[in-house]
Amino acid sequence: MQARTLISQFFPYRLLRKISRSRLAMPLYHLVSNQTPPHVRHLHIVKSEHEFISELDFFLKEHSPIGLQDLIDYIINGRQLPEHALFLSFDDGYRECFDIIRPILLKKGIPATFFLTTDFLDNKKLGYKCKQSVLKESYLMLSGDKEINLLLSSIGLNSGDFSKAVDALEYHHQDKIDELAEILGIDFNGYLAQSKPYLDSTQVEQMLEEGFTIGAHSEDHPVFENISINEQIRQTENSIKFLEERFKIKYRTFAFPFYDNGVGRKFFDEASSRHLFDISFGTAGLMDDDIPNNLQRVWMEATSQTAKNIFKEKYLTKFVKLQIHKNIIHRL
Ligand SMILES: [Zn+2]
Repeated sequence: MQARTLISQFFPYRLLRKISRSRLAMPLYHLVSNQTPPHVRHLHIVKSEHEFISELDFFLKEHSPIGLQDLIDYIINGRQLPEHALFLSFDDGYRECFDIIRPILLKKGIPATFFLTTDFLDNKKLGYKCKQSVLKESYLMLSGDKEINLLLSSIGLNSGDFSKAVDALEYHHQDKIDELAEILGIDFNGYLAQSKPYLDSTQVEQMLEEGFTIGAHSEDHPVFENISINEQIRQTENSIKFLEERFKIKYRTFAFPFYDNGVGRKFFDEASSRHLFDISFGTAGLMDDDIPNNLQRVWMEATSQTAKNIFKEKYLTKFVKLQIHKNIIHRL
């Protein structure tokens, strides 16, 4: 346990929330499942249904849930929010959002926004991070196979290096990821067809009818700081326009894939002059942003801590940062 997580446990939640001066809690999840699927098993923690329901019950005790339109009205039009508002969102558009999360939220009457990666919708393409997780999972089962190890060594990979080598592959190494899949005999299209990891359009339509909201999360999930500004704008604009045309939604929001570190003022100026979105979202916890319509959320799947403990640690961190005036992300 990190020192700050440990220290924060000695203080009541409401006290930490108060001294952090945080008005809005914005937890971010990807999926919830009692059986973590292979395409996320090596990426991050996945909360079980029971854990997720406990976390929601905790949030409902301490916060008042709001929907995307409330948040847009607050940021753009200065409309008031409830005192301790809760805005819940889910990134990447996994199928569990429909199968598992949606019924739980409907039962509890909690609104939520789902940020969709448009190339993955309808199971058209498996994200490169998910491919990496499937590679690792398959290798665990095949690592004793002499023929496969021989093939891997022919491209310079020792059996002990496999996991590390896969981790080192980035967005622009997709050919290498596919090459490894071929060696391991993995057919990603077959995996997509069989496992259906992502939402399909019919499910999204139903969720919209039920009152949930959606936003864009890029076309194929690159790390934005590693691509050119033209590509940043292109990925943002195309994914937003795709959803607008496909689902006839009247609002525009965008959540940066992974994080928004290194995304410069020039991007936000360009996005604003083209009116690409009303508000956007990062994953930098409780940091404030000097771009007023770029909001940071708290990722709930980085540690196995409970929601209460995660937020207590974030509130304490925010309090410390406020004292040394380091709580604002300055865009260059
Ligand atoms: Zn994502």
